[in-house]
Amino acid sequence: MMEAAEKQEKRHRILIAEDSATQRQIITMVLKREGHEVVIAKDGIEAVTQVYQESPDVVVLDIEMPKMNGYQVCRLLKEDQRTAHIPVIMLTSRDQETDKFWGLKTGADRYVTKDFQLTGLAAAVQEMIEKGPGPLGPIPMELHGQHDMESGDVDVLSRVNDLLDRKLYEATVINEISKLNTLSEDSAVTISSVLSVLAKVTDCYVGSVLLLEEKELYLHVDTRVGKDYYDDSQSSALHEAKGYFPPATNFSQFNVISDAEPGAIEGDEPECRTIRSIVSLPLRARGEVIGVMTLNSPKTDAFTEDIHQVLKIIEYPASVVVDNARLHERTKRMAVTDGLTRLYNHRHFYELLEQEFHRTKRYQSSVALVMIDIDFFKQINDTYGHQVGDDILKELALVVRGQVREVDILARYGGEEFAALLPQTSLDQAQVVAERIREAVEKNEFSTSKGIIKITVSLGVAGYPEMDIHSQVELVQQADSALYRAKEAGKNRVVVGGDET
Ligand code: GH3
Ligand code: MG
Ligand code: MG
Repeated sequence: MMEAAEKQEKRHRILIAEDSATQRQIITMVLKREGHEVVIAKDGIEAVTQVYQESPDVVVLDIEMPKMNGYQVCRLLKEDQRTAHIPVIMLTSRDQETDKFWGLKTGADRYVTKDFQLTGLAAAVQEMIEKGPGPLGPIPMELHGQHDMESGDVDVLSRVNDLLDRKLYEATVINEISKLNTLSEDSAVTISSVLSVLAKVTDCYVGSVLLLEEKELYLHVDTRVGKDYYDDSQSSALHEAKGYFPPATNFSQFNVISDAEPGAIEGDEPECRTIRSIVSLPLRARGEVIGVMTLNSPKTDAFTEDIHQVLKIIEYPASVVVDNARLHERTKRMAVTDGLTRLYNHRHFYELLEQEFHRTKRYQSSVALVMIDIDFFKQINDTYGHQVGDDILKELALVVRGQVREVDILARYGGEEFAALLPQTSLDQAQVVAERIREAVEKNEFSTSKGIIKITVSLGVAGYPEMDIHSQVELVQQADSALYRAKEAGKNRVVVGGDET
């Protein structure tokens, strides 16, 4: 008696959507035997309508049904906040992996194969009830919103259409972003393209990607914005990013890479001067935040719930694309640079030299090469140790960098020997540059772990077309021999020209 009363109290309502009358009978019998109340739907549309009217505790869906199949019903229910919490069991005679995949993808909670006795189903229903969100009251009517359940088929179908529209839109956005994976060798181009897709989708004015490890801040800029807006968007990107990293993280000195020329930013409409909406999301790879994407707009409340939804969906593909671009860039950079000084390595220097020499010949331009070698470096190593030697090499790279133009190509040519290739530079101009480098090094106080150390360098200069040079190899030979003569003549000096005195 006691047990029966308890069972009576705990009656749960189970909705069965199944088009076969025989199956319906069997399932109903099995579930009633367990003490459940059973509600029946004969096709997919009826199933959706019944869920709203009957608020069942568990929904059991056949996969193949007329009008709308079980996957579609499930997806619709799981997409609606008012029904998403109701456990859904997919029931089918098929047991192919693709079915299981779809069943789970549509948000089904369980996947049960129809067997002879339907024992699996009874157990699954019980399990759903136990772990379920508890007894559900009827859905408050006001939440039905504009969906008038009286209109049945038409209403459900229009909701299906809305859902398909949205899913298609989301899939298209994801696809647009994922496509960028193979777009370009250049990470700046790739990241800017990701931001430009997002700018279109969200109607933002400045989109940014901050990569902490690289110390880079990429900006995609709508040139309608004003200068103030542009500046503010940089500081807001940094500010937003801080929320995603530990407080001790260093956010100083970011290299800003913008796809808009500063001169092009000329918007002067008052409404384009102030950021009024901002949204940010983390970019993750291998479980870690690698960067932060920020979007902003001069419009108030520009980023609606719909846009937040889209951003949530693109978070993953955008992370993958940005991470790939960054790894690719890093691999490329490592292949061409010297780890200690961050200058180009010997091999890459030769590639650039060859290109540059041919270009110079073709355009009948000029090119000069300066070879730089530290004086008495062996002594420094012997006196202070190898680590101090390394510190000096690192700092020397910066000192030389400070004396040449952006377009000049610097390389670590050998152990303590550097090369500076100066495109479109005459031999005379190169001599001036070399002398400037010599002086800068002589004056520089190198800070090492053993205190301040002073060094000098010797330099050899060669140039085309002033000298009788026919290949890039000869250019190197001539600069090398000039350097040798600088050493012979007493070091800490510049010698121009090769063999002639
Ligand atoms: P010179 O004035 O004639 O140029 O004499 P030097 O001692 O500078 O030149 P030498 O060619 O005799 O010796 C070069 C030294 O540079 C020897 C080597 O220990 C040092 N060296 C080469 N590569 C590195 C490096 O990566 N780190 C350090 N610390 N030392 C290096
Ligand atoms: Mg030396
Ligand atoms: Mg040497």
